Amino acid sequence: MFPSQFTYHRAASVAEAVELLNGNEGAKLLAGGHSLLPMMKLRLASPPTLVDIGQVAELKGVSADGDGVRIGALTTHAEIAGSALVQERAPVLAEAASRVGDPAVRNRGTIGGNVAHGDPQSDLPTVLTALGATINAAGQNGERGIAAADFFTGLLENALDDGEIVTSVSVPGVASGAGTAYVKFSHPASRYSVVGAAAIVSVANGVCSSASVVVGGVESTPTRAASVEAALAGSGVGADALAAAASAVSGDFQGDAMGDVYASSEYRQAMAGVYVRRALEAAVARGG
Ligand SMILES: Cc1cc2nc3c(=O)[nH]c(=O)nc-3n(C[C@H](O)[C@H](O)[C@H](O)COP(=O)(O)OP(=O)(O)OC[C@H]3O[C@@H](n4cnc5c(N)ncnc54)[C@H](O)[C@@H]3O)c2cc1C
Repeated sequence: MFPSQFTYHRAASVAEAVELLNGNEGAKLLAGGHSLLPMMKLRLASPPTLVDIGQVAELKGVSADGDGVRIGALTTHAEIAGSALVQERAPVLAEAASRVGDPAVRNRGTIGGNVAHGDPQSDLPTVLTALGATINAAGQNGERGIAAADFFTGLLENALDDGEIVTSVSVPGVASGAGTAYVKFSHPASRYSVVGAAAIVSVANGVCSSASVVVGGVESTPTRAASVEAALAGSGVGADALAAAASAVSGDFQGDAMGDVYASSEYRQAMAGVYVRRALEAAVARGG
């Protein structure tokens, strides 16, 4: 359980982190260390160089950004869950962050590390995709934003170019009156989501006027539940209508469903319908 030898650098700024990352072949960024260090100890990753960004002040904190929020890459899950600004403008993100792992994980794990690692069982990719968030990155060629829907490209893979670093995440504010919810079936040991479902639902005169529904934990990247969204459009929001819409999620999986010793791919897909229904019910109950 010891990592192989590596060279350690501590960056003082984003510019220095980018320079160190690009100047050292195979270098990896170290943020909260809650995914990278276990992988290094298991020798699933053996980066020759670590660039510690833990002290880079410009990567920390939550600020208002138009009607939404901008969250620095080094902001921890506990800080996101406890932020009054996130609770007000994107409550579903605060809810998801509050359900990540345990207190130790929430106090060390960061939003930048979480999205860059791209674990399909993580909670934040699901919610950020539902919210239409943008992942902001900096590299040798400057800065750019990547839509969350395009950022997660595969199992532990993302759309960052070599030598790019996530600097922040921009989250649009949820529309006034919309109800939101994130529900998950937590793995009993790690608390990672076996299945997670995020829902953002607007209702006008008893009819669904817009819905964003995304499922995590089933496929290698977050699954937009387009069939559920289509079934909800213009429909009532009573229990039977929500259950019928939720059952449509089975049509949204692209044959990429994952299975393991804990939960088969069939079980995850079956549970997705249950958790989407629960997310829709909670979101509708909270809206207005
Ligand atoms: C026991 C346990 C339970 C957990 N349960 C959950 C859970 O329920 N839900 C959940 O969502 N997550 C869970 N996690 C993961 C946790 O939430 C962390 O967010 C995650 O480990 C990565 O964040 P980190 O800051 O620790 O990143 P690190 O481990 O430091 O880095 C992870 C990867 O991201 C890269 N990286 C880090 N920061 C950046 C950046 N700014 N730009 C580009 N690349 C970067 C690193 O190079 C590395 O490849 C759990 C982790 C543990 C150990």
